[in-house]
Amino acid sequence: MEDANKRTFKLKLLENTAEALKKNGFGAIVFQDAPAAASYVLKLIGSGKKVGMGGSMTVQGLGLPEDLKKADNEIITHTPEMSPQERRQTWLKAQAADFYLASPQAITARGEMIFVDGLGNRASSVVFGPGKVVLLAGVNKLVKDLDEGMWRMRNVAAIANNIRLKRNNPCVKTGKCEDCSSPERICNTVTMLWKKTRPTEYEVVLINEELGY
Ligand code: SF4
Repeated sequence: MEDANKRTFKLKLLENTAEALKKNGFGAIVFQDAPAAASYVLKLIGSGKKVGMGGSMTVQGLGLPEDLKKADNEIITHTPEMSPQERRQTWLKAQAADFYLASPQAITARGEMIFVDGLGNRASSVVFGPGKVVLLAGVNKLVKDLDEGMWRMRNVAAIANNIRLKRNNPCVKTGKCEDCSSPERICNTVTMLWKKTRPTEYEVVLINEELGY
């Protein structure tokens, strides 16, 4: 059981980050735990919607794909058996969905969000296209600034994802980013949401739990 004082402190960090995100034009809300955050997102989306998503472990950890399907929403995401053409069609459809769910690899104290991607489909969807982009993040994603965020992306999130995806990249062996030239490299494009763009609506859901990578 986590120390209550630590939880209170982390909640304060999340609230400060939510304020910084709002100053940058993003919608932001804080929850004490994952079930409360999941209920909020389910209510926000409702039913009968098209919902795009990538491979976010935070989104999966909250059980959102299954619960959204139960509420008669269509989940748009690629699967390993799809051909390159099917993947491309799926990614374009996800980008034009009513909602897109994802999780940043880091959120700075100034309310900037950063993502690293191997393919770029999530990168394009969080920037432009969906009716609303819903970004979920546990307290473990908070960082001081962009430098720390870049470090976290490469040396925490990317390595954990390499292990999850069973990629034969050097960071899996050394435990640190080697800026590899591997054909299986999963870090090819970095997206930074600095301030809200005019055409895209955002809701950032911050959760006082360690979630995802
Ligand atoms: S070693 Fe390569 S795959 Fe691993 S984190 Fe660094 S750039 Fe990404």
